[in-house]
Amino acid sequence: MTSGFGGTVPGLPAGGLGGRTAMVTGGGSGIGRACAVALAAAGAIVHVVDVDAGAAAHVAELVGGRAHPADLADPAAIAALPADLDILVNNAGLQHVAAIEDFPPERFELLQKVMVTAPFLLLRRTLPHMYARGWGRVVNVSSVHGLRASAFKSGYVTAKHALEGLSKVTALEGAPHGVTSNCVNPGYVRTPLVERQIAAQAEAHGLPPERVVGEVLLRGSAIKRLIEPEAVAAVALWLCGPHTGHVTGASLPMDGGWTAA
Ligand code: NAD
Repeated sequence: MTSGFGGTVPGLPAGGLGGRTAMVTGGGSGIGRACAVALAAAGAIVHVVDVDAGAAAHVAELVGGRAHPADLADPAAIAALPADLDILVNNAGLQHVAAIEDFPPERFELLQKVMVTAPFLLLRRTLPHMYARGWGRVVNVSSVHGLRASAFKSGYVTAKHALEGLSKVTALEGAPHGVTSNCVNPGYVRTPLVERQIAAQAEAHGLPPERVVGEVLLRGSAIKRLIEPEAVAAVALWLCGPHTGHVTGASLPMDGGWTAA
């Protein structure tokens, strides 16, 4: 169970996705990077898409895949990406923390473009190829905020709830063609996105940053520690594995018990 570049993939033999082609959006950092590593370790050819060209190139080199510098807010950039995929991981995302009355409309719009419209446009392009082969896996990296709301996150919560709906429709339409679509719903994961949020939340809540993780971010979580990106990637990989063909239209919380309360 070792990969070509020294990683291991719990639950899957190396090469289990041999012959499959995957695309990971936002693959240059955090959860996307971990997904690219896990999919490549399982044998998939991985297209790494990111607006950060250097990060995309670095991860593509790491996993022996191909880098695609692209701004997913731009439909023309999406139209230039490869469409012939077996696995699509809609992961790219960004956050903005502000009260609704202060939330810049252009930021709200940008979050919807990157986290809702881009997945839709990518699905439009890639589903026909999956249908033609009778197999496909769509993994949408949603969030606990696809299932629950938090104050000061109107753009993000709106986008993730929309992604949940898109994933379910994809599941219904893809079922006759062997295509599954699911959401993974992490709580707070140790990535640059969260590191940036700690400062923003400190300002929004008027708290010192060192109190933000326990008192704001993980207030609703029974487990009071951040999730590692590799744990999210392991769930994404499981959804692409041999035993999950009946898991579709689902949302899989890995939220430390947040939605149990
Ligand atoms: P991250 O900031 O580490 O990585 C996000 C990546 O997306 C970056 O490489 C960034 O360059 C890329 N990206 C952003 N805008 C883009 C655009 N317009 N076009 C192309 N690429 C773009 O963040 P992360 O924490 O790894 O987040 C990945 C996904 O996981 C996001 O959808 C996020 O909402 C979701 N998520 C994160 C957490 C968390 O706590 N970190 C929790 C739940 C869900």
